[in-house]
Amino acid sequence: MLKSPRACFKEIPENLIFHLKRFDYDVMTGMRSKINDAFEFPHEIDMAPYHIDYQKNTSSPCVPDMFELVGVLVHAGNAESGHYYSYVRERPQNSPGPQSWVEFNDMDVTKFDPTGIADQCYGGFTEATAYSHRFQKNWNAYMLFYERMESRSSNEVPLPMTSGVPAKCPVPPEIERRVALSNAQFVRNYCMYDPAHALFARRFLEQLREVNNGTCSENHSIEKEAIWLSLEYLERVLSRSKDCSDFTKMLTSLQKVIGSCALCCNLALDWVKVHEHALRNLLLRCPNPKVRKEFASMIVIALQHLKKHEPYAYGFQDYGDGDPESSEKELRALGVFSHIATRLMELWTTLPSHARGWDDYFSLLTDMASLGVHEKHLLLNRSFLKHGLEILVVEHGRSSRLRSEHPHYAQYCRLMDKGRRFSLVKLTELLSILLEKINLAVDPVSRMQERRFNLRSMPLTRQEDELMQLGSELPRSKVICIFLEKILSSGYCSEATLSIVRMMTLAEPQFGMHDAVQKTIINGINIEPAHLAEPYLQAAIPFCEATPSVDSAQAMIRYIAGEVDTIAEHGGQEHLTFFAQARRIVNLRDNFEPGIFNRIVLRSVPQWAPALLHFREEHVRVSTVDLLKHLVFNHDIQTMDDEEHAQLIETAARDLQVACVRRCNGLVQLQKSLDSKTVEPITSVIKYCISNYYNPEEDLRAIAEADGKFHGCQSFQSHVR
Ligand SMILES: [Zn+2]
Repeated sequence: MLKSPRACFKEIPENLIFHLKRFDYDVMTGMRSKINDAFEFPHEIDMAPYHIDYQKNTSSPCVPDMFELVGVLVHAGNAESGHYYSYVRERPQNSPGPQSWVEFNDMDVTKFDPTGIADQCYGGFTEATAYSHRFQKNWNAYMLFYERMESRSSNEVPLPMTSGVPAKCPVPPEIERRVALSNAQFVRNYCMYDPAHALFARRFLEQLREVNNGTCSENHSIEKEAIWLSLEYLERVLSRSKDCSDFTKMLTSLQKVIGSCALCCNLALDWVKVHEHALRNLLLRCPNPKVRKEFASMIVIALQHLKKHEPYAYGFQDYGDGDPESSEKELRALGVFSHIATRLMELWTTLPSHARGWDDYFSLLTDMASLGVHEKHLLLNRSFLKHGLEILVVEHGRSSRLRSEHPHYAQYCRLMDKGRRFSLVKLTELLSILLEKINLAVDPVSRMQERRFNLRSMPLTRQEDELMQLGSELPRSKVICIFLEKILSSGYCSEATLSIVRMMTLAEPQFGMHDAVQKTIINGINIEPAHLAEPYLQAAIPFCEATPSVDSAQAMIRYIAGEVDTIAEHGGQEHLTFFAQARRIVNLRDNFEPGIFNRIVLRSVPQWAPALLHFREEHVRVSTVDLLKHLVFNHDIQTMDDEEHAQLIETAARDLQVACVRRCNGLVQLQKSLDSKTVEPITSVIKYCISNYYNPEEDLRAIAEADGKFHGCQSFQSHVR
């Protein structure tokens, strides 16, 4: 500090503030860093030597100009995050004796012993103790405040003594008013978050019916007061407190009330309908996953109850002619179901800001769609399918118009680029359940309004159709189903994903996406590392179940079998599971002979089995042998009725033996050291095939050749430990 004589002052003010350079910037890494080195500073400093008069003539006598330390601003933390607090010396000092200092740390103001300044403000390392090593402190002085001693002693007016607390002086009325307001707010918050207050609010609900001898009042006015108060309380207070047990208790009490009276149910849903921020706060914004989930489930339960007991309020036009599901009418736009759907659609543009609530939001919509076909129809015509598909295709190059026309999609893409992750799990479920009542094989309608309610099936709109088909119009080599690729590449494949693949493929050839779906699946199979192919392998199953083309099913399985050779260290189990499932597929069309998938998998055995027979994981090797038993070894080909099948098994077994020998020779060429346990399954299979699928009399040459090739591999044996 001021070591260089070049730094000098023309004039030295009453107060000096020194700013210590504690933060640095690395131009190479672009990162800020904090300097925690030790830096000692004096309690008093003479500034006279730094005045220009003295610097001009250093031989002249120097009259001391003394300054005294009166405050330190401390920074604790690193360059990215931290906390500031300060130590301030009381002045004038009321009592004689040692200096009196005070620490200001947010709302806490406490006495501070100035002998602690070195430890708390100089930085550097802590002292090693018997219990801990020394480490570099991340708290240290950031700014120093000095005051000229002479001027203070002349201005000093001691205030009347107050005992034990820091000195008090008159406060300007404006500041006093603000302090009083802030204190009042503090006390109010304190009381609001008091568990006793939560209990008080809950009792309102619990004792609601007692005042009316166990039933609701006729006009439901006090019920409305109590239900709305508790919902308000849930939103404003309980959902924001750290411990959500009071939230759960309150919600349980609320459910008890609304679960026994449809009108009370309607009141609760009305509150959601009237309060435009309620769903956003409780379903999307709230950081507590339990709160989001429980609130969504309350809405679904209330809707179910209302549908059953007050169908008119729920949204059905007329009730009394039996099952509302059989009604030809649509759900009224003035019903509660429709209002909640409207509120949810209003939140669409805010979705990018609330990644944490995606699963809760889409889960609620999925549950609402599961309430019935009318509900699905309403949600379809409120664009939930269309917008859901938009989310899945919006990142793609072909969707630049969506991004430029809708700022929220542009925002979503920016956040994705920055690495923010949005769960697609429940969105996929919603799409799957909405598509359940869609007939993809018929021509789309041009506008939403033209999609009338139909209990059995409804068409897509042109826009929905275009979104689903996006990618199929690309040049032949690049054809892909963009929205499906987005779901599969998210790494998660649920029953909903499989169901979407099945529905699309079943709508062929009319739907026109057959090749695009097939290409999308195949493109994902040869991904590295190979276990990431799992969603694609799973999706291949419903494709084979639903495709109208035997050739396509066969090509899909052959392609996957051909890829197994390249999987190396990963994905053994995933591929094995595929073949185990594939052999049992029953195609839903009538042009597939029974057992055809077993035969396709059997024919491909020589392609996929060798790599899995000596895969690095033991359970994969063992399960591969098991699967081969089912496909090949357990069948006695001499006594089988189906000669064609017997022939197929024999060919597969011989080809398998050849492929396994080739694989072993390959391993020798790689000069890898081989573990006898790892190669045991593949060598046993070779031996088993030689002794069981060659006729000793007719196939002498073949046996000699096969055996010779295998045993001739002296080097193979020598590689085996
Ligand atoms: Zn009631």
